[in-house]
Amino acid sequence: MKILLIEDDLRLCDALTPVLRQAGYAVETAHDGIDGEFLGDELQPDLIILDLGLPGRPGLEVLRHWRANGNRIPVIVLTARDAWHERVDGLQAGADDYLGKPFHTQELLARISAVCRRQHGKPDNSLSWNGVTLNTDTQTATNPQGRNIELTGVEFRLLRYLLQHPEEVLSKTRLTGHLYEDSDQRDSNVIEVYINHLRQYFGKDFIETRRGQGYRLQAEKTR
Ligand code: CA
Repeated sequence: MKILLIEDDLRLCDALTPVLRQAGYAVETAHDGIDGEFLGDELQPDLIILDLGLPGRPGLEVLRHWRANGNRIPVIVLTARDAWHERVDGLQAGADDYLGKPFHTQELLARISAVCRRQHGKPDNSLSWNGVTLNTDTQTATNPQGRNIELTGVEFRLLRYLLQHPEEVLSKTRLTGHLYEDSDQRDSNVIEVYINHLRQYFGKDFIETRRGQGYRLQAEKTR
């Protein structure tokens, strides 16, 4: 899952990026409103963290632009502490949640999870498909036989993305973009290796290969 962090405070960016990566997210950053607005449309992130006080173009204008143009990606706005009007403006402009600065990173992580759950209509922190369940807090999975599977970071991110888009055919390029943030790490052939790991854990039919198109979870079995 990919997060775009738009924040001009470089120290805050440097502090947040490793925390978000540790939590299993791929992170892209922008440091002004103009780049941020462009990347919010271009990168198709799963979630955007948007500071409102930005050089170039204010965060509120960026958010209004996205919403006016049909960009519905979930947005958490970062506002100055005690600036209640900023929160109201942010929510009215189409933000999904807000966080006043300074904040604890744990609170940000909790809000990211909550916004994602709402987005995917899930009541708790688990995703499941065809007997496979993923707990997104503990980053562990259960296979159809009920056995617990420990996942590496990349395996976790890949499985989570597949489970969040169970009925879509996902190209290697798209999967790679959501697993890695550095373009030099982007070798789409590696995806095949991780897909095969997941098949070893969850059964070889769990993920179908669509020749020349990508991967898709096998259609859900009726119970
Ligand atoms: Ca700022």
